Formats: sequence, C-alpha cells, structure tokens
Amino acid sequence: MNKLIHRFIPHHPGTYSLMLALCWTAVMALSLAGSLTSLRREITTIAGNIAGAYIDKDVLYRNWNALHGGIYVPINQGLAPNAFYPPSMPDRDVVTPSGRHLTFVNPSYMMRQIYDLSRKEDGITAHITSLKPLNPKNAPSPWEAEGLREFERGGREARGVVSEGGKRYVRLMRPLVTEESCLACHAQQGYKKGDIRGGISIRMPMGLLEAGLGKQLKHLALAHAAVWLLGLLGLFAGSLGLRRRTAERDLALQELKQANALLQSQATTDPVTGILNRRKCCELLESAIMESKRYGLPLALIFFDVDRFKSINDTYGHDAGDSVLRELAGLVSGMIRKTDIFSRFGGEEFVLVVHNNDGRTARMLAEKIRSRVSQHSFIHVGQVTASFGVARLYPDDSAESLVKRADQAMYSAKHAGRNRVESLCDCHSAAA
Ligand code: GH3
Ligand code: MG
Ligand code: MG
Repeated sequence: MNKLIHRFIPHHPGTYSLMLALCWTAVMALSLAGSLTSLRREITTIAGNIAGAYIDKDVLYRNWNALHGGIYVPINQGLAPNAFYPPSMPDRDVVTPSGRHLTFVNPSYMMRQIYDLSRKEDGITAHITSLKPLNPKNAPSPWEAEGLREFERGGREARGVVSEGGKRYVRLMRPLVTEESCLACHAQQGYKKGDIRGGISIRMPMGLLEAGLGKQLKHLALAHAAVWLLGLLGLFAGSLGLRRRTAERDLALQELKQANALLQSQATTDPVTGILNRRKCCELLESAIMESKRYGLPLALIFFDVDRFKSINDTYGHDAGDSVLRELAGLVSGMIRKTDIFSRFGGEEFVLVVHNNDGRTARMLAEKIRSRVSQHSFIHVGQVTASFGVARLYPDDSAESLVKRADQAMYSAKHAGRNRVESLCDCHSAAA
C-alpha cells in the first residue's frame, strides 16, 4: 500500500506544488460553479413564490367579487360591457336613477381587466386560460396547454422556467375551480361546481430578479477569487519551505553518503599506501579461498617484507620510510591484475593473493616483483630490497594457515640472506 502511495506522490517539490495548485483551482472552480447553480436555483424558487403570491392575491380578489355575485362598474373608455355574457343574462347593463351607465363585471371579467392593467405596468403578466375557452383570448399557450392537461390528470400546480423571445420567464399556473358564480356562463359547457375549468397562469420575467443576481454573482466570484489567490499564496509559501527543506535534506544526504564512502574507504584502505588494509585483505581472502575450493581453481599467496627497513627509517627518517612504502605499493600494483588482492599486511609487510596461480607460477611472479623492486631506485633512499615467501592453497587450508605458511617461507628467505623468494615445499600439508 505504501509503495502504491509512493508511486503516485511526486518526489519533486515543484511537481507536488503544481499538482496541489491544480487541485486547489479545481476545488475553487467547483465551489464557484456550485454556488452559482444554487444561487440561480434559489432565485428561481423565489420567483416561483412571488408568482404564487400573485395568484393567491388574484384568487382573493376573485373570491371577493364572486362573494358579491359580481359587481357593477361605470362604462367608460377602458371598460366595455362583456360581449361573452349569455344573451339570456338580465341586467348586464343598467342605468342608475341618476343616469349613470353601469355594466356587470363578474370575477373572470374583472381579473382580465386587472391583468391587462398589470401587463402595462410591471411586465408580470397573468392569464386566465382554459382548454375550452369561451373567449378566444383565453386560449392556452403550448406551455399552458401542457399544464392544463396535467391538471386533468390530477396535477395541482405547473411551474417552470421558459425562454421566450430571448428572455427567461418563470411560469406558474394553478387550477381554476368552478364556483357557483361561474355556472351562469359556464354551465352550458357542462361544468359543475368544483370542476377544474382552466388555470390562472403567471409569467414573470426573470430579468426583474436577475438584475440583483448579477451583483450577487459578482460578489461571489470576487470572494472566490480572493480565497483562491490566498490559497495559492499559501501553497507558494509552503512550496518554498518544502523546496528549502528538500534541498537541505538532499545536501545532508549527500554529505552522509560522502561520509559513508570515506568511512568505508578508511575501513578498507591503508592510509599510507592507499592499497587494501589487512582487515579487508583477510575478508577477501576468505571468499577467494571458498571460491577456489568450490570451483577447484588454484590460488596462491605471496608474503613479502622490506629488508632492513628499520635502518632506512633510522638513516633517512620516518617520512622517507613512508615514501618507500608508497612507492613500493605503486610499483607492485602496476605489475599485478586487477583481480589480485594486494594489501599492506603490517608495518613493512605486504600480502598478494593471486587467483588461478599454482605455487610455481606464483613463485615466478614473486621473483619478477623481487627483481623489479631491487632494480628500482627509490626517492631519497635509492635501492631497496624485499624478501618473499610463496604458498599455494591446499584443500584443507584456512586463510590463517595459508598466510602462516607464506610468512614462514618469507622468514626462510630472510634467513637465507634476504632479497630472495622462498616457498615451502608443495608436499607440506596446511598443518606442516
Ligand atoms: P628485516 O630485514 O629483518 O625485516 O629487518 P627490518 O628492519 O625490516 O625489520 P624490523 O621488524 O626490525 O623493523 C621494521 C620497522 O618498520 C620497525 C618500524 O619502525 C618500521 N615501520 C613499521 N611501520 C612503519 C610505517 O608505517 N612507516 C615507517 N616509516 N616505518 C614503519
Ligand atoms: Mg623488514
Ligand atoms: Mg617485518
């Protein structure tokens, strides 16, 4: 699981910060879109409620008119007698004793008058409509016709937002229930009291509310932009901190690696000559012996010691002695294979482990090295010689017994007069 998380978390702080900034931008964009949608929805609901209040108020006026069985109003330029009243209706038009001409206005006729007036004033239009209108002016629009059919199926309200002529409107329609007072005109159509005869429909321009909405949208967008910017600034500051900490961590890691490499090298290398130290030599010798035994390959060890090194130190000084050791190590390193194990084993003692060499070839190599060393002119001190002991690996040898035998052979060389190569006889066992 951790590995999986690691795969998806970028290691570079820049990429990490960019991803966070993108996520933050997406979150803010989604929040803004969500807020705008809910604001629009709220505005639509408010518009619907206003339209509902309009209808409720109209129904109240209508009921008041119906309560009084219709009213008489003076005939003037704005009001003509209703041509759709049945001819049988008595007293449609009356003249008062004082000579005023009045005409009868029932609830529907009154509402139509009021709606005509409101249409002129504020753009909110209302309409009494029916699928079977007596007055062709009351014929339904497609939206109203759909709503009226829904009423016939039991619906009690039709609500929606429609676009007409490039403008958006909230539309609301409620059923028009047949009252006692309606039957005078509508009984002939077969309606009874309580029947749904049509609907009162309101059309309210959204522009009336959207003017205010525009301002709110602007505030909302500005608030989101401010929070988005603040978030980005925070991310930027965090990213800088992260970069700094990452750089510090990388530096510390690099220093640690360097220190480790130094420690490793100090643990395995001789500081004077730069070649392997005794510890590393023994470790490598152990594995070389195992490998040699497993594959049945020959292995030999050359042990050599600088002759009369003490007197070099005494004559030329300790630093000159060190220089001889360094020069000698360089000289021998140049004569052997990379796979050979060459180390400073002690003060002025060296061990060379040669793979794939039996006693004879190892002895030849030792002789070659001896000759080269003795012919070399060392800085400060001139000629230096060394005594060599050679031992080959026997099947029952350990690292210790192999080194010991080569050391013994080297001492034989010392005793035989120095600057020579000796090996213990091949017939000797490891224990010998
Ligand atoms: P032999 O031919 O019998 O080996 O005589 P030798 O003088 O070489 O042997 P001995 O063991 O008497 O002396 C070895 C000297 O090596 C003694 C010591 O001071 C010196 N030595 C050991 N390590 C170092 C070193 O790192 N640098 C220097 N300059 N001298 C060292
Ligand atoms: Mg010596
Ligand atoms: Mg010695």
